[in-house]
Amino acid sequence: MDTKVEWLGNAAFRITHDSKVFFVDPWLDGNPECPLAVGQVKYADAVFVTHGHPGHWGRGDSVKIAVLTGALYVAPTELCDYFVAREMLTDNQVFRVEPGKQYEVLGLPLEVISAPHPPVPKQPVWLAEVPGEPNCGFVWRFGPKVIFNIGDAEPDPVFEEIGKRYQIDLAMVPLWGKGMGISMEQGVKNSADMIAALKPSKVFPTNRYEKDNPVVKLLADTLRERGVSVEVMSQKIGLTVEV
Ligand SMILES: [Zn+2]
Repeated sequence: MDTKVEWLGNAAFRITHDSKVFFVDPWLDGNPECPLAVGQVKYADAVFVTHGHPGHWGRGDSVKIAVLTGALYVAPTELCDYFVAREMLTDNQVFRVEPGKQYEVLGLPLEVISAPHPPVPKQPVWLAEVPGEPNCGFVWRFGPKVIFNIGDAEPDPVFEEIGKRYQIDLAMVPLWGKGMGISMEQGVKNSADMIAALKPSKVFPTNRYEKDNPVVKLLADTLRERGVSVEVMSQKIGLTVEV
């Protein structure tokens, strides 16, 4: 079986598994580095949204992709209810998920975990849109392969527990910096703590992007110094990895 993951910038990913196409936190049109526009998306089976913050529900992009393609919209109950109440999506099109539960989505097992969100800055951009939380983490099993996406998160004992229960092939883990009120060094330490607990074979650092990857390099060096064996993906937009 063939599973590929493409990074589209920020926290946006496209996963293809056999003939299935999943989008995860697709923020495309407003995402300055994204190589793909919403209008270019011709096919999707499901759209997964970890939570309702701007870069994750994509300020409407996730809903537009579902409407354009007929894809199933998999998201926390609060978010699904919000869109259905406003007739942006139909009740048939949404798949409501809650942390701590297991599901089967389009024939594939999905576990949803509660991933604690770091405190967000009190700025209108964070507060004026759709329900922002809870923040859900997804564990997909694509045949023998395990992919984990934690949305936005900070270190928490749940990652140790997930790392013990699953042999994770690829994890998507956020990198935070001063935009979230912490230093770059602290952001790298937080990411390294989560990755060390999850023990994935490969990791895609998300959210924070800087040309030439200085922060990603610092993260990779930190992990190496700590003896954590993991391949850190460079933040090359459009990079596709086989899992
Ligand atoms: Zn968030």
